[in-house]
Amino acid sequence: MPPTPLLDAVLAQDTAVSTLRRALAGGRVHHAYLFDGPAGVGKELAAFGLAQALVCETRRDNGERGGSGDRACGTCSSCTRAVPREETTRPVHPDVVVLERGLYEPGQIGRRTPESQDISIDQVRSLVLARAAYGPHEGRAKVFLVRRAEELSVPAANALLKTLEEPGQRTHFVLLTAQASLLLPTILSRTQRVRFGYLPEATVTAILTGRGVEPGRAAEIARLAGGSVETALGLADPEESEHRTAFVAAALRAIDAPDMGPALDLAEDAKKAKDALPLRIAALASALGARGSAAAAAGQPGAAGARGREAREAVACAARYSLAISALGELDGNASAQLVVEAMLARMRAV
Ligand SMILES: [Zn+2]
Repeated sequence: MPPTPLLDAVLAQDTAVSTLRRALAGGRVHHAYLFDGPAGVGKELAAFGLAQALVCETRRDNGERGGSGDRACGTCSSCTRAVPREETTRPVHPDVVVLERGLYEPGQIGRRTPESQDISIDQVRSLVLARAAYGPHEGRAKVFLVRRAEELSVPAANALLKTLEEPGQRTHFVLLTAQASLLLPTILSRTQRVRFGYLPEATVTAILTGRGVEPGRAAEIARLAGGSVETALGLADPEESEHRTAFVAAALRAIDAPDMGPALDLAEDAKKAKDALPLRIAALASALGARGSAAAAAGQPGAAGARGREAREAVACAARYSLAISALGELDGNASAQLVVEAMLARMRAV
């Protein structure tokens, strides 16, 4: 079976995909898009799909040959090379360039230190500005994809402005974000927004079963995943599920520990797993909720045991549950993962 063109593989985002297909067919692809929507709903697949169609060697291009084509062939050399490689998460095609915090070794982008907080101006300079004067290597189009564009540092975003406005012939930008409100207004005003929504449960279930998850379990995970494949895969991944259980156990120990030592260690570890953190903290919230309900039930009049202690435990769990939920909100912003976990545990300990 020949490989499916990437844009064909985007599921349940009909409005976004038809906007892109119309632009391709009419030779009116915008020079700077903002793909805006929750994580794990197909934004990135659509962005690579658009890039693939733009560099495809056999697509009839309205502007050039009087034809119209809204589909990449999926099989030519350019199409094949526009697909991101699993190991590096970027394609080998020289005209499909990915920008992302920490994607490149510091030396590759003229830095001494890793990009721990944001997409640096060094990355924008070496990947975008240094090449801005040249057209596409292979002639058809050049596409820059910016993952989590809200992580562009202010200098990096400012350095991009002029290029975003007048990127040069056949050069396109696709900025991906789940948090458009964190982007500079000057960036927002220079991009055309394409919205992506949450996926229906049935779609998430189908994607999971397609990846070998047993159907019953896939449906159960899809119910919890809130319309995001990324969340669903995190829930389905046995290794991540172990890490999540370990995080919850360590957090509960840190709350009861005599000093802040274990909490600080856990916060230090959180730095390394920022992407996995929302699901881990959500699991902690859910564990605290379950513990609180159990304590409340045990503390009911008529239940056996020390009622006062159970009632206090139920109140403490409820307060800690709220703290976990606020920590999730803080993670949504640009806060440091380490600080969020440290502050959350310190507050939980003080309850
Ligand atoms: Zn092709």
